[in-house]
Amino acid sequence: MAKVIQSIRGMHDILPDQSASWLHLENTIRELFTQYGYRELRTPVLESTDLFCRSIGEVTDIVEKEMYTFDDRNGDSLTLRPECTASCVRAGIQHGLMYNQQQRIWYIGPMFRHERPQKGRYRQFYQAGIETFGIAGPDIDAEVIAISARLWKRLGLKNVELQINSLGSSEARAKYRDVLVAYFEQHEALLDEDSKRRMKTNPLRVLDSKNPAMQEMIEAAPQLLNHLDEESQIHFDRLKELLEEMEIDYVVNPRLVRGLDYYCRSVFEWVTTELGTQGTICAGGRYDGLVEQLGGKPNTGLGFAMGLERILLLLEEQGIETPDFAPNIYVVTQGSDAEKAGLKITENLRDALPNLRITNNCGGGSFKAQMKRADKSGATYAIILGDNELTEKVVSLKPLRLKSEQSQVSFDDLASHLATIDFDGE
Ligand code: ATP
Ligand code: MG
Repeated sequence: MAKVIQSIRGMHDILPDQSASWLHLENTIRELFTQYGYRELRTPVLESTDLFCRSIGEVTDIVEKEMYTFDDRNGDSLTLRPECTASCVRAGIQHGLMYNQQQRIWYIGPMFRHERPQKGRYRQFYQAGIETFGIAGPDIDAEVIAISARLWKRLGLKNVELQINSLGSSEARAKYRDVLVAYFEQHEALLDEDSKRRMKTNPLRVLDSKNPAMQEMIEAAPQLLNHLDEESQIHFDRLKELLEEMEIDYVVNPRLVRGLDYYCRSVFEWVTTELGTQGTICAGGRYDGLVEQLGGKPNTGLGFAMGLERILLLLEEQGIETPDFAPNIYVVTQGSDAEKAGLKITENLRDALPNLRITNNCGGGSFKAQMKRADKSGATYAIILGDNELTEKVVSLKPLRLKSEQSQVSFDDLASHLATIDFDGE
């Protein structure tokens, strides 16, 4: 036998038994974003490598070691997108989406990072996110956070904590950088190799280190929050005030710096303790310099990205059931005339009741075999159509999950009868 080919490590199939919860999550997200007035932007999964090097930053985990980069057949360096903010900004500049106008955008799709696969961390994973352009905030900062908060509410998720911080202006960060470097120099013996290197290139990133041996030293480091410029301080205070007005609980985490270079002012993460070290389910912030950095006219930007696998893991962890989209009705027929009539009847039903989920038995089979399939499909009712039913112009309606009796309904009354049944309530 030929060798069986497997999927790539860290890249997973989402099987039919698992995909209903994905569909539920994605539907909820699309509906929510749309209700807040956001519109979808779809960008290609492949981009020029330069785009990510110039936006995310050369001295970040992503650009240093996580990108899937290869040469196209004509020699151009391409990269599978590790995140979508850079792509949205690229598209925004390329198509003039943000000149003299505000934009509220959302996206959903797969991202790629060559990381060590583990629970909640994969090499192909899905993000849904929001990007806004041309709104200086902090009202939009508060809106974007409110959207994420409402998503947890709609999904029924509990115990996710909102952490916020301000990174200040780039000038304030430059000053703070000197203070921080001086501090790290005093504690150089405690720094690991990565951090020693980063101390020279991007010292703020040292604060983001997950090395347990460095945590105490990081805890005691000077805080950027104490070095904010006045405007950023006002922005941050107003954001907190707006969150309080909307009754969205938060904690200020002065250590929150985010792994990407482009952030300024507001940054935030939604964190849970229920997923081990992969506890961040949503992360975002303001990136006012990025549009200019990528060649556009100066413009403000702000957004977040959330990891769909982690949200689904958390739903499962918290025992929250999601709809399974099993059929409402499975149609069992006996004989070729009934098969033909069954198709006609169900097409009529789909006209009359478009939301009904109906599965027709296809491929024949004995009555017993068809009823087995009906049962396995998870359907609430079976419609049974045989010779007798056909002569009398009725169908038999058999409950598959309830202890009520089978009944007969005439062809003419079928749609109106089914309309009275609350399938989702059962
Ligand atoms: P982490 O600190 O967990 O590595 P990150 O800071 O690299 O996260 P972001 O780039 O901010 O993550 O991406 C936003 C969200 O996307 C994360 O909060 C997480 O939910 C999700 N995410 C990031 N990387 C992965 C991955 N490899 N697999 C699954 N989800 C991921
Ligand atoms: Mg990461």
